[in-house]
Amino acid sequence: MAWFKKQRKPIEPPDKQSRVPEGLWVKCPSCTQIIYNKDLVASLSVCTKCGHHFRLSAAERLRALFDADWREFDHGLTSTDPLKFTDTKPYHKRLDASIAATGLNDAVITATGRVNGIETSIAAMEYSFIGGSMGVVVGEKITRAIERAIAGRMPVIIVSCSGGARMMEGSLSLMQMAKISGALARLDRAGLPYVSVLTDPTTGGVTASFAMLGDVNIAEPKALIGFAGPRVIEQTIRQTLPEGFQRSEFLLEHGMLDAIVDRREMKDVISRVFHFAGFGEAARPAARAAAAGAAGETAAAEAAVET
Ligand SMILES: [Zn+2]
Repeated sequence: MAWFKKQRKPIEPPDKQSRVPEGLWVKCPSCTQIIYNKDLVASLSVCTKCGHHFRLSAAERLRALFDADWREFDHGLTSTDPLKFTDTKPYHKRLDASIAATGLNDAVITATGRVNGIETSIAAMEYSFIGGSMGVVVGEKITRAIERAIAGRMPVIIVSCSGGARMMEGSLSLMQMAKISGALARLDRAGLPYVSVLTDPTTGGVTASFAMLGDVNIAEPKALIGFAGPRVIEQTIRQTLPEGFQRSEFLLEHGMLDAIVDRREMKDVISRVFHFAGFGEAARPAARAAAAGAAGETAAAEAAVET
């Protein structure tokens, strides 16, 4: 029996609710810096202090990559719920909720436009639509984006941000892996470049297919990239996984990626890749004219020496 009994109630914890208006300031989860929302938008949602990459929506991603406006395709495609699937709630209800929340009809936006002057076909995945999962619609839209690139002789960028295949569509979702990979093989035969951008998170069937098939595979810093989750792997191999396992830096070190690029430099790096592949020469007539002019001057100077 205790000698003393606490009579008074413990002191109430302070009100946890922030008095800062919602959406005006954002706290960086990595360095706890408080960032003004407008500054964050200006830096493409990268923390100005520590470089933490916040997740971007598909529309923000397109805005960050295209020069100005873009033309969206296949906006109206929607899943038909072929299996009439129900888990904790019916799949069609999940779809309706995601459509209402995001304004999209599925987890990807496909569009064409210019990237530093180079006409490009881009597919950007939307994580807030059922975890960016790949169902029949995502597979069809990405395939069409690749075929559009082949028809128009354009390079392709696919920005992955996905939890993998959409299990509510069963094996139909897994078939999209082969379908997109097949389209990428046709793109390759047409001699057109494909840059895969892997963002946080890129997992499951997306990693196991098109996300790793880029002519150049570029990841954002500290992105989670893997096939199965770390817990599943640990249980299977009965070993503790190393520090930083399945993060971009670890994958780059082990030869799974070509580069890790800060989001603020992503557009310029990708357009340099396209230039290297022979695209965008028409966009640089000034540079070629300058080179030709310089050559002409040397020839004239040599002629002058001879006389
Ligand atoms: Zn930070």
